[in-house]
Amino acid sequence: MRLSRYFLPVLKETPREAQIISHRYMLQAGMIKQASAGIYSWLPLGFKVLRKLENIVHEEQVRAGHIPMLMPTLQSADLWRESGRYDGYGEEMLRMKDRHGRDMLFSPTAEEMFTDVFRSHVSSYKDLPLTLYQIQWKFRDEVRPRFGVMRGREFLMKDGYNFDLTKEDALHAYNRHLVSYLRTYERMGLQAIPMRADSGPIGGDYTHEFLVLADTGESEVFYDSAVTDIKMGQRDIDFDDVAQCQAVMEEFTSLYARTDETHVPDEFAKVPEANKRTARGIEVGQIFYFGTTYSEPLGAVVDDGRGGQVPVHMGSHGIGVSRLLGAIIEASHDDKGIIWPEGVTPFHVGILNMRTGDDACDAASEDIYAKITAAGLEPLYDDRDERAGTKFGTMDMIGLPWRITVGPRGVKNGVVELTSRRTGESEELSPEVAIERIVEIYKGIA
Ligand code: ATP
Ligand code: MG
Repeated sequence: MRLSRYFLPVLKETPREAQIISHRYMLQAGMIKQASAGIYSWLPLGFKVLRKLENIVHEEQVRAGHIPMLMPTLQSADLWRESGRYDGYGEEMLRMKDRHGRDMLFSPTAEEMFTDVFRSHVSSYKDLPLTLYQIQWKFRDEVRPRFGVMRGREFLMKDGYNFDLTKEDALHAYNRHLVSYLRTYERMGLQAIPMRADSGPIGGDYTHEFLVLADTGESEVFYDSAVTDIKMGQRDIDFDDVAQCQAVMEEFTSLYARTDETHVPDEFAKVPEANKRTARGIEVGQIFYFGTTYSEPLGAVVDDGRGGQVPVHMGSHGIGVSRLLGAIIEASHDDKGIIWPEGVTPFHVGILNMRTGDDACDAASEDIYAKITAAGLEPLYDDRDERAGTKFGTMDMIGLPWRITVGPRGVKNGVVELTSRRTGESEELSPEVAIERIVEIYKGIA
């Protein structure tokens, strides 16, 4: 992409409404624009990152054996009356009437819808196990929408639902989700720690929230610092292997790590003194096993193969896809702007032409642009007729992890500068070697 032809409305002033850095940078970098309280228009750069996150979520869900589909955002109140949640959900549910006076609502979550599809089409244990999911916009009429996409009213969520014959099978689904979520966050360059959480209105004994540690997080958390040393890395996971998923789940959840709702001071006291941590975290996902809470009232039953009809065991699992943009920026930025991890960056590398209009600089920049594009990567080429300072400012703000700077003196000597946004370190290299480096960096990522 050439910046002269892109739509990147970078703001010069610091937006006053932003209280936290991710909100401020998303506005300044021209990623989002507030449409109304807690509702955002996704401008091209923000939309690009959002799509990248969605892709990672899809890839990891499909890898775990889960099946994507899509539910409507506007739902009839009838189903929600059947489950008993229509009245219980409270003011966060946006309710409306259609022209015939029928009660409708904008889906805040979708247990009922998925259970309804299941009961309409599945009647035998032979069709189990089954996990269906979607990535779809949700609406929750939050009292205090704030911090930009972190606590919006309209937000993008991946929500998945498992249907199993027995509790053991459903707990395998729970573990499978835990493992696949860990892989998902790691690919986004994030460490999200699974923490014992409160199951709230959904009910059930099994639930973990995934938290990214950040001072601006809304949850208070208590943990043994050794949990931050555990990494998924490049492990080869067989998601059908019950024992393996169970072992990974235990490895990641045996140490003390809890949100304030489930915090037990007496238990925390057993953590080695040097490892005790109290911090703040951003919830980027949550998994639940809740048994037959929805399948019973909604009649989601199957033939168990022994002549009986039994309600299925279920769980639900959510990832806050749009909130993740904020969480990643909170975890990865400096005072000049965003620093995208390679796995989610909107463009792989910036090409900065220091002197647009100079024949040698233009030719060298164009050549690098063409070669990186031919290698299957997406560079953002700043070909605007702007001062070098403005171009550096834009690149730093939008946070591409790598930058190739093309200047008149370097071009004369056959070199360009390759700079890491994270460390600020630069190297003078021939254009060919700089391109090779970029291709190498993204091998296995892009
Ligand atoms: P919270 O406690 O932050 O209100 P929640 O526990 O009600 O969230 P879930 O129902 O578990 O949310 O939804 C799954 C995920 O969706 C959450 O882990 C979070 O990342 C994201 N999410 C929930 N509410 C919002 C919101 N208002 N704006 C953006 N993302 C949200
Ligand atoms: Mg939650």
